[in-house]
Amino acid sequence: MDLFEYQGKQYFSQFDIPVSAGGVATTVDEAVAVAQKAGYPVVVKAQVQVGGRGKAGGIKLANDATEVRTHAGNILGMDIKGHVVKRIWVENASDIKAEYYASFTLDRAAKQHLLMLSVEGGVEIEEVAAKNPEAIIKLHINPVDGLSLTAAKKAVVDAKIPAEAQAGVAEMLIKLYRCFTEGDCDLAEINPLILKPTGEIHALDAKVSLDENAEFRHPEWAEFMATIELDAREKLAREYGLQYIGLDGTVGIIANGAGLAMSTLDVVNQVGGTAANFLDIGGGANADLMAHALEVINSDKNVKSIFINIFGGITRGEEVAKGIVEAMSRVDLRAPIVIRLDGTNAQEGREILANAGIPASKLTSKPTMLDAARAAVELAQK
Ligand code: GDP
Ligand code: MN
Repeated sequence: MDLFEYQGKQYFSQFDIPVSAGGVATTVDEAVAVAQKAGYPVVVKAQVQVGGRGKAGGIKLANDATEVRTHAGNILGMDIKGHVVKRIWVENASDIKAEYYASFTLDRAAKQHLLMLSVEGGVEIEEVAAKNPEAIIKLHINPVDGLSLTAAKKAVVDAKIPAEAQAGVAEMLIKLYRCFTEGDCDLAEINPLILKPTGEIHALDAKVSLDENAEFRHPEWAEFMATIELDAREKLAREYGLQYIGLDGTVGIIANGAGLAMSTLDVVNQVGGTAANFLDIGGGANADLMAHALEVINSDKNVKSIFINIFGGITRGEEVAKGIVEAMSRVDLRAPIVIRLDGTNAQEGREILANAGIPASKLTSKPTMLDAARAAVELAQK
């Protein structure tokens, strides 16, 4: 789960990482009120989950209320790489002597944490990474040992952080690493991490991605979860507790097991179609679950056909079939279903479907995954 900058900063504060005073605003008037409180000059910052806001005109300095009005007015509603700005963060502006880059991520291949640190932080970091990669130092950290202050100090020297900032940056790395580990982040990035003329080290931006698998031990994440921007389909799926991801194709997909669901997407693609979603209904396939799954897919206006792909292992074919029949009596589907039912008790299941009195225009059964995919794609292209 990606956080907005203001949420990332809120999270940083919990780990003692210094950030600027400010507040969130959704209107120009609110922005002025927040600016008044934060103290001028302020920076007006677009809150969208995409990088390069500064270059896109989404970060502006304002010296008084008139300037806040102008910038807030321009930035609210602005489209930054397809993300429309609905919120802005207004914070007390900082004086900058130097901009550095620091991040922690998990290097899955190395099975270690990875620190990246650079003396050349700021909006050009991608450029630095492409043209001058040795300006970004990388340090692998064994998660069992963690990051020691000695190792952090060495990294700071290796990255050629100037002497006046070394102690502060090393201390900041320790705090950011604590945020990354104890805070269960997939990513904790500060760019720019600034040196102020006063010598203080300060986080001017925050990019935090939380590991949702750790949600159970972070009740405080609830407020972050509440602001996740899901589309209507995904919201409904979440309410039902379904493993659903909305896509933009025309074939609605229901499969049991994440692996089979992904293969189903591939097969639909292979025969020239496009999937409208990923949906894994897991091991059980009772009527409630099936009805919820069909309801979510039915709420997607792009869906022209529905491909149900079930391989029964523990899940039994006749249970799935009964679930579908009952679900179809509860949900008035706009699109026809093509089903491939295989595995445990598949034959019994197919018989239930065949004898349920559902017209062939609404439900067809195909013996193989490939046949079913072809039929579903054909229906979607009609
Ligand atoms: P990004 O472009 O989305 O990464 O947004 P940032 O929050 O990193 O801001 C981009 C750039 O704006 C920074 O690298 C700074 O150079 C500048 N900036 C942001 N906040 C301030 C501030 O408080 N004072 C000054 N002087 N510049 C700022
Ligand atoms: Mn930034």
